[in-house]
Amino acid sequence: MAVAMAKAKAKAMRDADGVDVDPGAAVVVRGLTKSYRGVPAVRGIDLEIRRGEIFALLGPNGAGKTTTVEILEGYRARDGGAVSVLGHDPGRARSRLKARIGIVLQSTGVDRYLTVAETITMYASYYPHPRPVNEVIELVGLEAKRDARVAKLSGGQQRRLDVAIALAGDPELLFLDEPTTGFDPSARHEAWDVVKNLAALGKTVVLTTHYMDEAQYLADRVAVIAAGRIVAQGTPATLAGRDTARARIRCRLPEDALPPEEFAGVAIADGYIEFTPDDITRALHRLTGWAIEQSVSLDGLQIVRPSLEDVYLELTGPPSAVGADRLGSAAIPERTSR
Ligand code: ATP
Repeated sequence: MAVAMAKAKAKAMRDADGVDVDPGAAVVVRGLTKSYRGVPAVRGIDLEIRRGEIFALLGPNGAGKTTTVEILEGYRARDGGAVSVLGHDPGRARSRLKARIGIVLQSTGVDRYLTVAETITMYASYYPHPRPVNEVIELVGLEAKRDARVAKLSGGQQRRLDVAIALAGDPELLFLDEPTTGFDPSARHEAWDVVKNLAALGKTVVLTTHYMDEAQYLADRVAVIAAGRIVAQGTPATLAGRDTARARIRCRLPEDALPPEEFAGVAIADGYIEFTPDDITRALHRLTGWAIEQSVSLDGLQIVRPSLEDVYLELTGPPSAVGADRLGSAAIPERTSR
């Protein structure tokens, strides 16, 4: 009996394309491809996004992030590969998935004369099991603007309303497209809190962003896409071996001080020396020992490992090389509404 049930469950975890779907996975993508009039935009992407995780897609302009996300949302047809979103193929089951996913675009066209509460109530009415409107308002931190007209909201507040609209149907999976573009620093931090709130509720969040600090702060895992391929995937802290990369020592020397002999070959720029020793502990010991002996202070002494941005730039290469596809792509009308 138990075996039969397990078999039935395993069967249910395969979608129509036969993608094996781990019950813990919200999204599974295998060998995804998409071209626009013969010009490849996505060239064989594999992804697995766990339920309840915040997953960030990073990549330069034209890398294929939007194309990939639109395929996951069911708004764009793929050419090849297999995709499973919450156990369904979004290419075939878009209407079934609609109530279970929420989408936050870069700008949502809403009636500027409705209030915040009216807007969310209207969107909630489209869904079979909406989240209570007041709860949604609280989740996005718009309590003080509940009865304000949309036209009177600041840019950051409108963005929160966009998130609220996506939350109205109480989706399991949310897609956030560059959620904080154009925000001031405090609005960005507030928006990050909103996203963390969603994760605390057990929602799965897939976001695209160009901000490495955003990915670092929010994402459990990130994937870097360049020219239609995933070039690295992992946690922000360990991406592309960040955590094990050799550390650099950086400090400023007084103008007349010469570094110890063993560091003599190290370049000095703007009074700073920076170098990557084979043995960081020994090098640090030698440098600080020398400074104490010479009564020299090592201002701004730092041990630096590559930041997420350093790793990202290394992976994605010079902007001109990555954006090259864009020039050759044929124009196909963009989706205008959802
Ligand atoms: P961005 O960060 O600028 O939003 P992206 O990573 O989301 O970029 P996509 O929008 O997926 O990239 O574009 C991938 C490639 O496909 C680009 O070369 C782009 O020019 C091309 N492309 C995207 N949409 C279309 C379209 N509707 N018609 C033709 N080519 C397109």
